[in-house]
Amino acid sequence: MNFNVVIPVSENELLRLIDGFQDKNFRFGAGCTDLLVELKQNTENDLTVINLGRLNEPAYKSIEESEGELYIGALATAGDIAENNLIREKFPVLNQAADTLASRQIRQVATAGGNICTASPAGDITTALMALKAECELLSSKATLRTVPLSDFITGVRKTAMADNEVLRRIKIKMDGRRYKLFSKFIKIGTRKSMECSVVSMAYHIKSDDDYNVMEANVAIGSSAPTIQYTQSACDYLKGKNLNFIETEVAEEFAGKVLEYADPISDVRGSAWYRKQVLSNLSKSIFDSL
Ligand SMILES: Cc1cc2nc3c(=O)[nH]c(=O)nc-3n(C[C@H](O)[C@H](O)[C@H](O)COP(=O)(O)OP(=O)(O)OC[C@H]3O[C@@H](n4cnc5c(N)ncnc54)[C@H](O)[C@@H]3O)c2cc1C
Repeated sequence: MNFNVVIPVSENELLRLIDGFQDKNFRFGAGCTDLLVELKQNTENDLTVINLGRLNEPAYKSIEESEGELYIGALATAGDIAENNLIREKFPVLNQAADTLASRQIRQVATAGGNICTASPAGDITTALMALKAECELLSSKATLRTVPLSDFITGVRKTAMADNEVLRRIKIKMDGRRYKLFSKFIKIGTRKSMECSVVSMAYHIKSDDDYNVMEANVAIGSSAPTIQYTQSACDYLKGKNLNFIETEVAEEFAGKVLEYADPISDVRGSAWYRKQVLSNLSKSIFDSL
């Protein structure tokens, strides 16, 4: 591995660097837990890494609520997210995804932005954010901001809709001011409990009224297709159902709808057939624990 590193400390400096590198080979590095593995496997020529880790800009690092939105800086680490009380209370699915990512040491450096931008089908934080219908705030080197739904941002395996002169600045999740009961969980099935990407994962965030009638269901699946999937028709199917009376046929139909979004691969961690079986069982079982 042989590359140069530049370390901007302000956003202006970052934007100038991005502009200046447009006709050169550069990559961003945040926690570098994915980047270094990738660069070890594929050496790139004349590469410069723009290390975002020292950016002294609160927008990139803070987790804060403002005007009905929760903003998570792209450089917030899995550890920051797992320790945040607002996320623990309002978005348990995201708290759990961050808290089960890799090991304690990796959680201290692995960032939310890196998890999204690496666009792996197994990204835990990204799967939870997909269930939460998060949006990505992108900043261009010309200082223009645009916001893209996460579901549109990830366009393929390790591919995103980010332009060459853009950086991911923040992630945005809508806060819900209504009164509701919340059933929100991240389930990760792996061959081992820690230091392991999932064989299959499911993130759900379901809201009901006081009588357990589903007001809104949000379900996303990881490691089940080339990209993390938001299972729209399964979510629509649950709306209006009573969580106290989910019959076996309803659970099976829900699982069938989730599986419509599954197109898994076979690899060392599990065959495509196994992944579909696990996903089906997982989908049916969520109603047992609500
Ligand atoms: C041993 C080990 C275990 C792991 N276990 C898990 C696991 O259980 N679950 C899981 O989901 N992941 C796991 N990972 C993967 C990794 O830790 C996560 O994906 C992590 O969140 C990546 O964040 P990072 O800051 O390290 O990203 P980096 O490696 O710094 O960057 C990843 C990619 O995103 C780009 N990038 C980073 N930040 C930005 C930005 N702000 N704007 C634009 N592009 C950006 C980089 O250019 C690079 O292409 C594991 C990795 C290792 C090494």
